[in-house]
Amino acid sequence: MIKSDVIIIGAGPVGCVLAERIANNLKLSCHIIEKRNHIAGNCYDKVNSKGLLYHKYGPHYLRFKNKKVFNYLSNFTEWIPGNYIVKSVVKNELYPIPINIETFEKFFKKKFKSKKDLLQFIETKKIHIKNPNNAEDFVLSKLGREMYEAFYKNYTIKQWGRHPKKLSKFITGRLPIRFNKNPYYVNEKYQFMPRYGFTKMFNKMLDNKKIKISLNTDFYKIRDKVFYNKFMIYTGEPDRFFNYKYGKLDWRSLIFKFKNYKKKQIQKCVQYNYPNTFKFTRSVEIKHVTRQKSNYTVISKEFPTNTGDPYYPIMDKKNGKIYKKYENLINNINKKNIYFEGRLAKYKYFNTDEVIENALVLFDKLKKKFKK
Ligand code: UDP
Repeated sequence: MIKSDVIIIGAGPVGCVLAERIANNLKLSCHIIEKRNHIAGNCYDKVNSKGLLYHKYGPHYLRFKNKKVFNYLSNFTEWIPGNYIVKSVVKNELYPIPINIETFEKFFKKKFKSKKDLLQFIETKKIHIKNPNNAEDFVLSKLGREMYEAFYKNYTIKQWGRHPKKLSKFITGRLPIRFNKNPYYVNEKYQFMPRYGFTKMFNKMLDNKKIKISLNTDFYKIRDKVFYNKFMIYTGEPDRFFNYKYGKLDWRSLIFKFKNYKKKQIQKCVQYNYPNTFKFTRSVEIKHVTRQKSNYTVISKEFPTNTGDPYYPIMDKKNGKIYKKYENLINNINKKNIYFEGRLAKYKYFNTDEVIENALVLFDKLKKKFKK
């Protein structure tokens, strides 16, 4: 039997942040139930046999939309500046991605004297689409067919196992399109990595006697033996919670293949994207981001798949409809003091800083309701 003031299902970023706030600020006892053998969710990083810190579930390029989230996390870690530079491999050549002025010049073999010059040129490439509301039309209407086919089409098909026409415009819309020289992958001003890794940062959050963690524990195997005095936070898949009442939600997962090399460096930057017919979407040399000094390096290749742990909610019509039904149940279950939070539970393509911000917002709400 597990009994506590608060029960948290899942020890990912949301579970760790809420446990920390609830234990330290509300002084309530918390018990986290986690299926995996570690905390930190998909942010989990660890040191491999060559002493290299690597991101087991794919690179997490932490950045902050809201400085409050950065300030909050600064209680648990020191920082190193983010170094998030990505290149796309098109016909054996490296191009900056997100597309920037250098990408345009190299791709079209043309020099642009000014931004205006470039914008005028792109105007001739764009396809006029009245209401671009899928992932393909979004790009066609901004960049035209040549760039769409070179940089987006196959990458998106591989990543999602679906045609871009069937996916929300927000998916390809995540990637900025730039008419300047900015080479960084994301737009946010604050781009920082935890100096000693994500796992250490989240571990520090949980350093409180009021927080207990059961690892290697599947909530669904012990569900009827779990009790809370105050409330429960659930960060897993919503369809499973409700016994698939409205059917299964689809998820996209990834398989990572890691390989160590006795070389200081292999890639020119942390990530290469492959918008071609290879089976993998990207290769990552995380050392560029962790800035470790070593004679070894580790490269991971990412192979998208439909099976395995859920990583990405799928933003298409079918899953959108199913989730809406579960959302009604979720809103109702708040009455039982059960709260759904995070990328899985909300079935939304949030970034790490966004899920942490949402967890802090939820905490403020809980604080008002449950403060002794
Ligand atoms: N994308 C693409 N080509 C790229 C990079 C991204 O077509 O070189 C599209 C693809 O559909 C992808 C989406 O943009 O799923 C969002 O990319 P992002 O890098 O944000 O994905 P994440 O890092 O979350 O996997």
